[in-house]
Formats: sequence, C-alpha cells, structure tokens
Amino acid sequence: PFDMLIVGGGPAGASAAVYSARKGLNTGVIADRFGGQVADTVGIENFISVSYTEGPKLVASLEQHVKDYDVDIMSGQTVKSISKKDHFEIETDSGAILKSKSIVVATGARWRKMNVPGEQQYSGKGVAYCPHCDGPLFKGKRVAVIGGGNSGIEAAIDLANIVEHVTVLEFSDVLRADEVLQEKARSMSNIDIIMQAQTTEVSGNGDEVTGLQYTDRSTGDSKAIELAGIFVQIGLVPNSEFLRDTIDLTERGEVIVDARGETSLSGLYAAGDVTTVPFKQIIIAMGEGSKAALGAFDYLMRLPQN
Ligand code: FAD
Repeated sequence: PFDMLIVGGGPAGASAAVYSARKGLNTGVIADRFGGQVADTVGIENFISVSYTEGPKLVASLEQHVKDYDVDIMSGQTVKSISKKDHFEIETDSGAILKSKSIVVATGARWRKMNVPGEQQYSGKGVAYCPHCDGPLFKGKRVAVIGGGNSGIEAAIDLANIVEHVTVLEFSDVLRADEVLQEKARSMSNIDIIMQAQTTEVSGNGDEVTGLQYTDRSTGDSKAIELAGIFVQIGLVPNSEFLRDTIDLTERGEVIVDARGETSLSGLYAAGDVTTVPFKQIIIAMGEGSKAALGAFDYLMRLPQN
C-alpha cells in the first residue's frame, strides 16, 4: 500500500504531496484534473511573494514541484468512495482499488453558477466569483453582487470600499445574511439592494461585461443594469459527496477537520476548500495541505509496525 494517498491535485493536494514525499513516504496523488480551480483562473495577484501570475502557469509550477519527488500522480481518475479496513481503500469510478495507510482529501469546491446566457462566455472578463481575488480589478467601477446571503452581503461591503457602486440582486423577498451585515450594507451610501430579482442574462460587448438583465419577480418586468463586473455569490459547494457515509460533514457538506487537519476518521486528513477552514484561497489551501500532510505523518509514526 501507499503510505499516503492524496485525493485532489489542486494547491492543497500538491502541497500535501511535496510534504509527504519529503518525509520519505511512499506517496500518491489521485486527481480528476491536476491543478483544480487554479487551472480556471486568469490573473492571480495575491499569491504572496509572486506579484502576478496566471492559473495555467501556477499549475505547471505546482506539477513540476510535485514531480521533483518520487510521487505517483494518477490524473483523470475520480474517487467514488473511501473505506477503512486494515488499510484505507480508495475506489475509483473506473473500478480500481488503491490501498494506503493514510489519506489526505483535498478535493476542493466549486462555485455555484447562475447558468444564464453570457455567464460562461464572460467568466474572467467581468464575471467573477471571488471578491478577495478580483475585487481590486474593478476599482472605481460599478459592479453587481448576485446573492443576498452572508457571502453576498460580505462581498458587497468588501467591494463597496474599492469600487464606485455595488448593486446586490437577491432572488427571494428576504435577505438571508446576518442582521449586522445587512445593517452595515444598508448604511453604506454606494450599495443598493434589489429584492426579488432573478438574473436572466449577462450582457457584454464580445470582450467584456457591460451589464446584466434581470426579471423583477414582483411585477414580471425585465430590467437592465449597466456595470463592469458581476460577482456571483450563490454558494460554494464542497466536492465531498463521496464522503457522506464515511466522515462527519457540516450541513453544507464541508469536511470537519481539527487543528491538524484530521477528520472524524483517524488517519483520514483533509485540507483546502473542501474543509470547514474559512476563506477559500490558494495560499490558505497550500498551508492547510502541508499541515494535513504533517498531521498524517505524525499519525503514521504512531502506527504499530505491520
Ligand atoms: P481545488 O483547487 O478545487 O482542487 C481540487 C482537486 O480535487 C482537483 O484536482 C480536482 O480535480 C480534484 N477532485 C475533486 N473531486 C475529486 C474526486 N472525487 N476524485 C478525484 N479528484 C477529485 N484564490 C486565490 O488565492 N487567488 C485568486 O486569484 C483566485 N482566483 C480564483 C478564480 C477562480 C475563477 C476560481 C474558481 C477560484 C479562485 N481562487 C483564487 C480560489 C482558489 O482557486 C481555491 O481556493 C484553491 O484552488 C483551493 O484549492 P484546493 O486544492 O483546496 O481545491
């Protein structure tokens, strides 16, 4: 068996792999797609010590760093389930079974999309999902935030300090965000909140976003707003469905980890966007990945020899 099998090849998984291999452990990485969300990212300006890089470039460096060590990278493989007998057993979609003494799950998350015309076309050209990442690109411009939950209202407050104006569009007739956040947002002169607004289309000029269209659900009228950016904040879904019967997850599906990255099943660790650790960022995922690998190494040291 492997000493450590890492599920996921994003920043958290790559970081766990380097740390594991450097401990001399027999390490494998199994990933649907090496690089994870970073592969879909255009400009990255907050990966500290690198002023600017681009997703595909960072993915290539991640892969090179892992390949500097003797790590078995299995990409194009989706994990279907994990169970624990003598060793952990990972079953893939293709029916393969892999055995390991410890596991780090780093399967990340995916932003829920609006699924409206223009969203995909203008993703990275005005349509954004991460205010921490892309907020500064819209300095002095008008933007919308889709979604009035905690993440939407937090994004609006955050963005209002950078951009000229923020319009929040909420689908229902109530905001789900905490009252303190709502009060804060209402107190800011450059935030407007529109209720019962169903976004129907992202408009653009071929190169970038120029506005959006929505239906006012109270009247059925179609309306348009001109703006440069649209932050979609309608949920981040952890890729943890395959763990539902194996370990403790939160209601939202996040893997519950302790300070060392260990889950409710001894020897199974997790890191990055799939976990309860707040603030989903590359640099955080990398730190958490290395931490989980060190946690798993500690676990392995204490295993009776077999
Ligand atoms: P991910 O990057 O999501 O990687 C998950 C890995 O697990 C992938 O390899 C995937 O294929 C694999 N996987 C998933 N399920 C399975 C399965 N069942 N079996 C096998 N493999 C599986 N952060 C920043 O810090 N700065 C930015 O500028 C920035 N911009 C972003 C822009 C966009 C468009 C997006 C989407 C995100 C951005 N982020 C940014 C967030 C950042 O990309 C994530 O926080 C980070 O990638 C999380 O790393 P991770 O390793 O936890 O997960």
